[in-house]
Amino acid sequence: MEQKSPPLIWLNVIIFTTSFLLAVVVTPLYFLHHDLQAAHWVWLLITFSFCNLCITAGYHRLWSHRTYQAHWSLRFIFAFGGAFALQNSALHWSSDHRVHHRHVDNNDKDPYSAKRGFWFSHIGWMLRHYQTPEIYHDYSNCRDLQKEKIVMWQHKYYVPLALLMNLGVPILLGIIYHDVIGMLLMVGAVRLVLNHHTTFFINSLAHIWGSQPYTNKNTARDNGILAVLTFGEGYHNFHHIFENDYRNGIYWWQYDPTKWLIKTCHWMKLADKLRVTPAEKIEKSRALQLLNDTKKKILHLPDHTLIAERMHTEYDALILQMSEYYGLKKQLITDRKERLMEQYEHAVLKVRFEQMQQHFKQQQLQWQLLMKQYA
Ligand SMILES: [Zn+2]
Ligand SMILES: [Zn+2]
Repeated sequence: MEQKSPPLIWLNVIIFTTSFLLAVVVTPLYFLHHDLQAAHWVWLLITFSFCNLCITAGYHRLWSHRTYQAHWSLRFIFAFGGAFALQNSALHWSSDHRVHHRHVDNNDKDPYSAKRGFWFSHIGWMLRHYQTPEIYHDYSNCRDLQKEKIVMWQHKYYVPLALLMNLGVPILLGIIYHDVIGMLLMVGAVRLVLNHHTTFFINSLAHIWGSQPYTNKNTARDNGILAVLTFGEGYHNFHHIFENDYRNGIYWWQYDPTKWLIKTCHWMKLADKLRVTPAEKIEKSRALQLLNDTKKKILHLPDHTLIAERMHTEYDALILQMSEYYGLKKQLITDRKERLMEQYEHAVLKVRFEQMQQHFKQQQLQWQLLMKQYA
């Protein structure tokens, strides 16, 4: 027997449909007869970036995952920006998101499980009462946030704040630039639709499209294109395995403006205690995933057992070198910080470290060459 769909959440259906129609139908029609100024575009870009960054740096990396600590002034800005992005209160958002991480891909527990398909994980989960009222209002997984005044204040006054930001900001800009309707459309509707769907992509596309360099135990993917649209959140495979890291794109060449923002705030003394995963842990999971992926690719070869054995030997050697290298690196850093050794002792340690570094790099190269051979 086919299961009946839960009833619609009319408020959400109306918000999503109206904003979408305003953005894609009414806005182009309006600007057929009205001047589209540079100010419309500039403010669209500013408010869009502002809202998305408040979600990524505030709702996500600060409140959901506690990857750093933020000054009250910054948290205040995030609270306003989050209401502007119209994605529910930080408390509610974080609670859903913590469940998502804890029960990722579990169709019964993950509120936006990607295994239920693109539409459901993108927007469908918000259109119907899939969660029972007890679950919907259960914030027991966010007791830390319930102790935060700004979070609770935003939760309590979420509706007036959301109205103030979504109507107040465009109207104010409209008065300044003499086009209230134009600003309501561009900074109100178009910005909101862009904010919504780029954020929603993280739940949908970032669990469908991309690579899995760190783990394939869940559906999360790394995707550079999505990272551009989502202010760095596209490195979702990394994020799901190392959720306490304030970075999502860990390499310098990966596009992660949320990470840059948090780092800049750190320099400005507005953010503190930025948490990072030890490099050794990251590299180990990368190597293991590569080993498992490559082993699957050689199954059709007649001598695959022998090749797999060679791979394991190389892998073990790599892990050993890795542990020694990072161990020595750590020792060197602590020593430098605390000046534990005499100068000559430190110099000897440094030479040993440099040699170790050479060996490790050599081993890494050997490993990569072997893996590439069967990729
Ligand atoms: Zn997350
Ligand atoms: Zn996810």
